[in-house]
Amino acid sequence: MRTKSHKDRQIQVVTLGCSKNWVDSENLITQLVHSDFAVEHNPTQYGAGTVIINTCGFIERAKEESIQTILEFAKLKSKGHIQQLYVSGCLSQRYKDQLEVEIPEVDAYFGTLEMPALLRRLNANYRAELLGERQISTPGHYAFLKISEGCNRTCSFCAIPLMRGKHISVPEEQLVQQARLLAAQGVKELILIAQELTYYGLDLNKKRLLPGLLEKLANVEGIEWLRLHYAYPAGFPDELLDVMREYPKVCRYLDLPLQHISDRVLKAMHRGIGSRETKTLIDRIREAIPGIHLRTTFLVGFPGETPADFDELCRFIEEQQFERMGVFTYSHEEGTSAHSLEDSISQEVKEQRAQELMGLQESISFNKNQQKVGTSFKTLIDRKTKEHYYGRTEFDSPEVDNEVLISATGQNYLRVGDFADIRITGAEPYDLLGESLHHV
Ligand code: SF4
Repeated sequence: MRTKSHKDRQIQVVTLGCSKNWVDSENLITQLVHSDFAVEHNPTQYGAGTVIINTCGFIERAKEESIQTILEFAKLKSKGHIQQLYVSGCLSQRYKDQLEVEIPEVDAYFGTLEMPALLRRLNANYRAELLGERQISTPGHYAFLKISEGCNRTCSFCAIPLMRGKHISVPEEQLVQQARLLAAQGVKELILIAQELTYYGLDLNKKRLLPGLLEKLANVEGIEWLRLHYAYPAGFPDELLDVMREYPKVCRYLDLPLQHISDRVLKAMHRGIGSRETKTLIDRIREAIPGIHLRTTFLVGFPGETPADFDELCRFIEEQQFERMGVFTYSHEEGTSAHSLEDSISQEVKEQRAQELMGLQESISFNKNQQKVGTSFKTLIDRKTKEHYYGRTEFDSPEVDNEVLISATGQNYLRVGDFADIRITGAEPYDLLGESLHHV
């Protein structure tokens, strides 16, 4: 994305990590543009001016990628290809003191809540009134809406609260205003994100306010799809299901990270929910919203996870037939409470377990996709190549889920950013093939 072109006030922002980090970069860019900087986000060529790297520090692999990226830019700076180098985000929040010593080429490091300080360093103004505005860098028809920052949970494996702090909900009026501004820019799908979506509101007035927020967002003109990511299972507010049922704009899709199913492991993970409650929650969700597609995430190789715990997890996955699933391997993170346990499972076994789960999921996903052949879905067209248009149904989130591939040959009806009725003609494990019901 290029927003202006002023040679001496050029800033390039490099974003690593998750969608929440992406939103932080978009907010930073909005502030910079209002201070008359020319900003490029993840450009293909780097050079001149200032580079800001917004890092991730979630697990070992993410930390390595962030450090590697900082080192590459430090080299560019040493060669004079860039003038100033700043690092922000989770890695910087967590390891600032060490990084300052180990990579001194960086001009300054900033934590996750230090955007005003970073702006001051750049001689830019921090404008609180811009908080509802955002220069999105996703395709113009969808955007992430971060409804809160931080997390009050104490999952024993998770370093996120160390980097993002306690849960802070964004006031509802600000989110609705943001949704209106995004809709006015052409956004049709809002993807609600947070570390823990269902905690929304508890810090504001001791009530879970996500259902009410969702209702208000569903009434924003121009927004056609609302999608929910990261609903924590313990304390799940069932009123949310009423709103999902009542408002067709809310996609029949829910990302519910479960992490495990063995009671022993869930307890050691401090998840606040056991196997029986998890299963009844899934039953309630599927009963309330027929056809809902559930995405979940599991963590394998947690300290002390026995072959029996892992088998229980495999059986659970076969039983539940989740439509979408992701797997992480346990990463032994300092500062988390699980760090006091012995990291007892070898990396090799962790990887094997992850692969086994993904093998199970591949055939579940393939069967589920096969069942869609011959039916039609409202599909949002995300992008186009020479050969294909790529769309998504309400059951798929960008980047992580299925796409629907539609041949571009002789196709004059489809347009990127528009909805279309697509009939499914074929299925692969993680993608669908389709044809437009309207040919011109
Ligand atoms: S809910 Fe648990 S896993 Fe998720 S961000 Fe909070 S502490 Fe981490």
